Amino acid sequence: MSNQPHTTTTIPYIAGDGIGPEIWQAARPVIDAAITKAYGQSKRIDWVEVLAGEAAYTQAGTWLPEATIEAIKTHKLALKGPLTTPIGEGFRSLNVTLRQTLDLYACVRPVRYFSGVPSPLKAPEKTDMVIFRENTEDVYAGIEFAVDDPQTKTLVELLANQFQVHNIRFPEDTALGIKPISISGSQRLVKAAIDYALAQGRQTVTLVHKGNIMKFTEGGFKNWGYQLAESAYADQCFTMNQYARLQQSAGEAAAQAALTKAKTAGKLIINDVIADNFLQQILLYPEKYDVIATCNLNGDYISDALAAQVGGIGIAPGANINYSTGAAIFEATHGTAPDIAGLGKANPCSMLLSAGMLLEYLGWQEAADLITGAIEAALTAQQVTADFADLLPEATCLSTQAFGQWLTDSILD
Ligand code: NAD
Repeated sequence: MSNQPHTTTTIPYIAGDGIGPEIWQAARPVIDAAITKAYGQSKRIDWVEVLAGEAAYTQAGTWLPEATIEAIKTHKLALKGPLTTPIGEGFRSLNVTLRQTLDLYACVRPVRYFSGVPSPLKAPEKTDMVIFRENTEDVYAGIEFAVDDPQTKTLVELLANQFQVHNIRFPEDTALGIKPISISGSQRLVKAAIDYALAQGRQTVTLVHKGNIMKFTEGGFKNWGYQLAESAYADQCFTMNQYARLQQSAGEAAAQAALTKAKTAGKLIINDVIADNFLQQILLYPEKYDVIATCNLNGDYISDALAAQVGGIGIAPGANINYSTGAAIFEATHGTAPDIAGLGKANPCSMLLSAGMLLEYLGWQEAADLITGAIEAALTAQQVTADFADLLPEATCLSTQAFGQWLTDSILD
């Protein structure tokens, strides 16, 4: 019998800048151990390093080599550490560039509580959400005009003369930004959230928006989301838009009865919340929210706020996915943490849980579960990195590498 693995999957990885290399070095043996434990020799990942960020700049003279983008396009998947945002080097952000170049339109961030993690909340276990943040549009598209750019003046004049826009408060010294939000972009994101919620047996998808003020862009996002749910998922979803229409046409009791019937039938409920209210709601009633679909900027704020509720960005995983092409980059959601880089204080859990999402995406659920289980075991045993040890007086503080070793040993035990 051959000793060769049956399935070897090649995955490019970007170790990243700052704490990136240390969390990658701690995480890789844990991921490999989980695969070996789950599948013996029958599955294996062949990790191939690709460059981006400071390492790329030093070795190849560019922050994001074409070869890196080509490798990710070829293999469709990648695991990524944090990258420094170059200042004044032509890139707004390497992360945003990667997402836009590969059209990774859904930023997926699961937020759940791990028992034992220090949290500012009284009942952090009530937070269990998955955020679907639109990744390619909104003010994040980077369509901005600087205050001293002559094009800005031209645009201000065009808006005044051709479009009768006279409410730019200080037209002589303003910068401008443009916020594209499209039907196509909104609906493919909401579709991803609904498909996920249906596949995972989740109860609700909440569209988070600021449509009360930005009626055509964020209001559009909400309306197009509801329209998609009502047209493409009529048998599987009930929307609060339908509820509101019934309320108006047939009264409150009829609307309530339809909602109850939909819930009893196991339908997915689609509702919406205005973004500022949502930031209150997630603190006051986190248990009411499940899968979240939102525009790019809101998603950025919401992701960090929710990550903080369950213990901070050291333990927050993420994925950027194009569900049509299958391309996806899985990444630790925090930055390069220059304040602790090289000190062995970084928590590798966000990288590890992102790798767990990658394994799930490959259908290697057993290996993903082993990683999650090992992290849970470490927290139960109060074996933690410095970020948590500072808040847990009884815990043993391990270096990044030693923590990784603890997890590997616990998986292979
Ligand atoms: P940051 O996330 O790097 O750090 C914020 C705080 O969280 C710091 O105190 C840091 O020590 C701590 N922290 C972050 N990750 C941690 C971990 N794994 N374990 C323990 N503590 C951790 O945010 P920043 O300081 O605003 O950004 C630094 C750099 O990272 C900037 O260049 C920024 O542009 C970049 N950045 C990159 C990404 C990415 O690559 N996805 C995301 C955000 C910021």
